[in-house]
Amino acid sequence: MEEEKQRRLRALPAVHEVLAQLETEAEFSPFLANKRDLPRLTHCVRQVLQKARENVYRNISSSFADYESALWPWLKKELLQVLMFPETSLRRVINATGVVLHTNCGRALLAPEAARHVAAQAERYSNLELNIETGERGSRYVHVEQLLCQLTGAEAAMVVNNNAAAVLLMMNTFALGKEVIVSRGELVEVGGSFRIPEVLKAGGAQLVEVGSTNKTWYKDYEAAINSETALLLKVHTSNYRIEGFTHAVSGAELVELGKKYGIPVLEDLGSGSFFDGASLGFPPEPTIQQSVKSGLDLVSFSGDKLLGGPQAGIIVGRRNYLERLRANQLTRALRIDKLTLAALEGTLRMYQNGDGESIPVWRMLSYSLDHLKSAAEKLKAALESNTAIAVELKEDASQVGGGAWPTVNLPTWVCAVRPKQGSVLELEKFLRRGSVAILSRIQKDWILFDGRTLLAGDIEDIAQRLQDWK
Ligand SMILES: *Cc1c(COP(=O)(O)O)cnc(C)c1O
Repeated sequence: MEEEKQRRLRALPAVHEVLAQLETEAEFSPFLANKRDLPRLTHCVRQVLQKARENVYRNISSSFADYESALWPWLKKELLQVLMFPETSLRRVINATGVVLHTNCGRALLAPEAARHVAAQAERYSNLELNIETGERGSRYVHVEQLLCQLTGAEAAMVVNNNAAAVLLMMNTFALGKEVIVSRGELVEVGGSFRIPEVLKAGGAQLVEVGSTNKTWYKDYEAAINSETALLLKVHTSNYRIEGFTHAVSGAELVELGKKYGIPVLEDLGSGSFFDGASLGFPPEPTIQQSVKSGLDLVSFSGDKLLGGPQAGIIVGRRNYLERLRANQLTRALRIDKLTLAALEGTLRMYQNGDGESIPVWRMLSYSLDHLKSAAEKLKAALESNTAIAVELKEDASQVGGGAWPTVNLPTWVCAVRPKQGSVLELEKFLRRGSVAILSRIQKDWILFDGRTLLAGDIEDIAQRLQDWK
């Protein structure tokens, strides 16, 4: 085996040999026409040869004779690919996991309308901070404030970098050096090291825990209130459920308590949504509108979870509180970028136009079983001629992701693939390490491709990649 590997490594041409050979290949002439392109070409050749070496280390099962004859066509194909699509660090991934809000893959996808608005604002000057009427300096927040107020029913709104920043800013503005009361059942940790106790501390506030993990009562909050209390904070337990013998105090009840003692009440809604999920058969979640309506002074949520927009932290609520947030120096450090603002405006306009259901997150969550089955069937058909794998359709479940509806299993159809040689773990790695990474789910001896999160062209690319397996 080692000997075979050594022979294969020796069979690889040197960089100058590849370059000389390319001179004779017509499809490479555009890349050879200009001498200045030579360093890039050389770099790409090195890159492809390195990949070939890695393939040898990772074992290719064909015989040496096959290897030798397949080598040059393979090198040419790979080289054309890297020359035409130079590798950027940030690049496309095929998400076949069925996890709609996949944290590792960029969470929510933007709707094309929102993406177009971003591209248009990116390439031109804009009125980002210009009041066109007066010619004076304006505020970047005006571009989304009215939309947010219309959609949520709040008096005022602003946006920052993400929801973690929103919570930090709220703590720092209203509770610096003071106490914030939170239920022990709501001391949430979200992936990526966002923990409510830590964020409060970072914002300069002191956490006062009340109640127990499963039960917290109105009287628990009330007993903890003293002259140092700055805020009552409700945190949506977005990524877990406490079920059984439980009790939590609703936002509306906290509002009543806050009024009694003159203390503002805030809610971190996490994955805030304009839809309650009932039409999809999900267990009901409070919508952003409901939280605002219950009288909470400020409500914050993410832009790139169920809202289906860009990464952003949105804060809505009472005007006087929003004004204090804007006056905080931290706001400058946490401020939202113009491209994000464009993406958010584009997304919010879709909700305003009654088009919210065509935002990718909601489109994917509401696919019918027929649609999902036909996507899985289409992939199966594209794999039918592949003799290296066994293929079946299976019923399975996809996840919402992003910490939203953590206990919901969305019924789906998957195209399941089993390698005839090698293990599923090897196949998963092989798929992930192609020129476009393909992410799949593993279930026992099968690799599952869930049609829910596939986009145009993905099926063809998965089939193409599997052609090269063993
Ligand atoms: C996701 C989440 C956050 C963090 O939001 P980001 O926009 O990712 O910063 C904060 N609180 C809760 C409850 C969350 O679910």
